[in-house]
Amino acid sequence: MRILVLNSGSSSVKYQLLDMDAGSVLATGLVERIGEPMGAIRHKRFPGSEREEAFAFEQPVPDHTTGLTRVIDLITAAETGVIAGVGEIDGVGHRIVHGGESFSAPTLIDAAVIDGIRAQVPLAPLHNPGGLAGIETALRLLPGVPNVAVFDTAFHQTMPAEAYRYAIPKQLYTDLKIRRYGFHGTSHFYVAKQCAKHLGKPFAETSCVTVHLGNGCSMAAVKNGKCIDTSMGLTPLAGLVMGTRSGDVDPALHAFLSDNKGLTIREIDAILNKQSGLKGMCGHNDMRDIHDRIAEGDQDAELALKVFCRRVTQYIGQYMAVLGGTDAICFTAGIGENDAVVRQLSCATLGSLGAVIDAERNMHAPRGRLAEISAAGSPVKICIIPTNEELEIASQTLEVLRNGKKEE
Ligand code: ADP
Repeated sequence: MRILVLNSGSSSVKYQLLDMDAGSVLATGLVERIGEPMGAIRHKRFPGSEREEAFAFEQPVPDHTTGLTRVIDLITAAETGVIAGVGEIDGVGHRIVHGGESFSAPTLIDAAVIDGIRAQVPLAPLHNPGGLAGIETALRLLPGVPNVAVFDTAFHQTMPAEAYRYAIPKQLYTDLKIRRYGFHGTSHFYVAKQCAKHLGKPFAETSCVTVHLGNGCSMAAVKNGKCIDTSMGLTPLAGLVMGTRSGDVDPALHAFLSDNKGLTIREIDAILNKQSGLKGMCGHNDMRDIHDRIAEGDQDAELALKVFCRRVTQYIGQYMAVLGGTDAICFTAGIGENDAVVRQLSCATLGSLGAVIDAERNMHAPRGRLAEISAAGSPVKICIIPTNEELEIASQTLEVLRNGKKEE
């Protein structure tokens, strides 16, 4: 079975074609700057194998239809491709950012599901329209191939009301569905399952804190295989410090900035989403650059790193408290998987809670695979678990196709 995974943003489409029987990635790539005068396409076939070949193109990509048509050309053409024709694609899995309260599982796409995703656009005005464009284009270009929506919010739908409701007037929840949703759910789910496998426990009996630190950062508390809390909220701005997003701030900040700087709500929103986080504090949003600056004595960079890690520590502590028993803390994504310093600083004081990091193991952890970095005998294990959202989307897509399951 071959599954095409599409992650369609407002101006980009990331794709991966997976051979689920062989467990391999056949092709992967990215179409960027859709709608701009010049678009960019990067494509790889047989990535990670001896046959790997990479291609790059610059050409105008006016819309998603053009972008996806090009992707299909690339994966089917003799010079760049991996399959002879679209007939060899068995299903398409779409990453959809927001499923609201309507979708708590991967869902076979039909007209009603498209309407359901469209109904969530007010909750994700920047993200869901891209996903919808991807779905509509795939349905047109690959007639007869089933499409499945996999929602970033779905794994978090098991949170109890005391975790997802905000202490604001009830009417705002009932009328506008203002509540915590959480994102990166596919990654948290995948990592928590890998954790259970590593511990040799059934998933339904595994409790862990999953710490996704990439460009966007979020954490989830998983109790007996179900998410019971997560750090992102109504939007992905909440919670941890991120590359350019502030994470938690005093909610009165908007009023303060409006009163004292005359900024509009939109301007404040842009500051908190695009000019804050690590970048706002020291001018760099890539953790590797921050380490370089620290080595040169940049104190802003050092403080940014400390603020970032302190927030991670605080949230891990919070989640261990609400879990009331944790098997493991699992670090994942670009920073979580690769940055030993961030892991060390974030876990340094957790020994008193039963999670003892082993500095040597952490520093010398192998890249790109699961590793345990807690001290021998630490009651709570600390692990590095590489995430794989595309594989998880493809697996969930396949499961829906096999079960013919459809969320009502
Ligand atoms: P996304 O959230 O876009 O999927 P990733 O999970 O790929 O992002 O994470 C991207 C971030 O990971 C980069 O911005 C960078 O800060 C960080 N990163 C990647 N490699 C390293 C590394 N070797 N050391 C520290 N940080 C890294």
